[in-house]
Amino acid sequence: MTVSFYMPTRIYSGANICKEITTYVPEHVRTIVLVTGCASARRYGYTDALQTYLTRDGRDVHVFDSVEENPSYATVDRITALARAKKAEGVVGLGGGSVLDASKAAALCAVSGMSAAAAVSAPPAHGALFYCAIPTTAGTGSEVTQYAILTDSATQRKENLATALMFPSVALLDETLTASMPVELTRDTGIDALSHAVEGYISLRATPFSDAYARAAITRIATWLPRVLASPEDNTARREMLEASCMAGMVIAQTGTTACHALGYYLTLRKGLRHGHANAVLLSRVVAWVQKYVPEKVADIEGMLGSTVEAFVSRCGVTPDASLSAVDAVEIQEMAQEAATRGNTAATPGLPSAEDLVKIVCADVR
Ligand code: NAP
Ligand code: ZN
Repeated sequence: MTVSFYMPTRIYSGANICKEITTYVPEHVRTIVLVTGCASARRYGYTDALQTYLTRDGRDVHVFDSVEENPSYATVDRITALARAKKAEGVVGLGGGSVLDASKAAALCAVSGMSAAAAVSAPPAHGALFYCAIPTTAGTGSEVTQYAILTDSATQRKENLATALMFPSVALLDETLTASMPVELTRDTGIDALSHAVEGYISLRATPFSDAYARAAITRIATWLPRVLASPEDNTARREMLEASCMAGMVIAQTGTTACHALGYYLTLRKGLRHGHANAVLLSRVVAWVQKYVPEKVADIEGMLGSTVEAFVSRCGVTPDASLSAVDAVEIQEMAQEAATRGNTAATPGLPSAEDLVKIVCADVR
């Protein structure tokens, strides 16, 4: 079997690296759209600081500061329209996965003027603006993936816009920007990163190359997630988590995710559970399902974590049964039917059917 590994994004990591952002933006990129979420980037001074750094050598910067969680097609279209109106040559995304996904999709759509809905159906064949990703959560790894997970408000489904043109040109990892995350967000996003590494490791699409990064990420998260939850001001722990999340992103850029993410999207859009929290609730259940197909991988994961996935997640403060108690039997059926149609379920060992997915959610697979 032929295996490959593709990672075109240049990654730079270091405390306060954003101060040097002009070093990493090509000289010809003079007009930039800076994209952020609705509140935190402004509240903690990140937007003003970035604007100052970017305009220092005479660049024009236009701020779009209203990306919502689980961003919609409409939000992408608004950023695209701003980029085209200002004739932007580049886009900088500064925020969590929601901001990074919306802004990288707009950097793609701005070249052709295509709508997000059209790009999801058939991504353009050529071109994207220069795009720099600056994560403020340590979780999604979107700064190194070719995916933008966007919400179709009409169907209330999350869709994956995926094209190699959307790999960010540059990713800047500055752990000082993640220090403002409250503990629950730190936990949920950290477990999202763990889910990416674990799902990539057990995936039918795993390769020796993706496995190397998956193991590196799982090992780091095993040590540093409990540490950062106990001491949120520990900058070393913040740095390790941000780098681990990036490594886990490099894994899913090769493998994609599995049934855990496929099921989790429903919990996010219909039940209001944050992306990472939804994965935290489901990850141990999906690992229990794959146990009989890839026992050596599951044993490896447990060895790296020093416990079962269930015990690790519970040590971080997530109680899956409590979080799932708000989901009734009809909703579980709906959730399973929807997840069964997704490509990431098809990468799950044992190829769970909709019926199997119900058992997974109900922790009834042993
Ligand atoms: P998020 O949805 O980007 O942000 C969640 C919340 O955290 C927002 O309220 C945001 O506030 C706040 N926040 C972000 N950074 C903060 C900071 N440093 N301090 C304080 N608050 C902060 O959360 P996320 O978990 O990073 O991203 C989840 C999204 O990424 C989902 O849509 C998921 O589907 C997607 N995802 C994409 C990929 C990929 O490869 N593309 C992979 C996994 C997940 P503001 O709104 O005020 O900024
Ligand atoms: Zn995720």
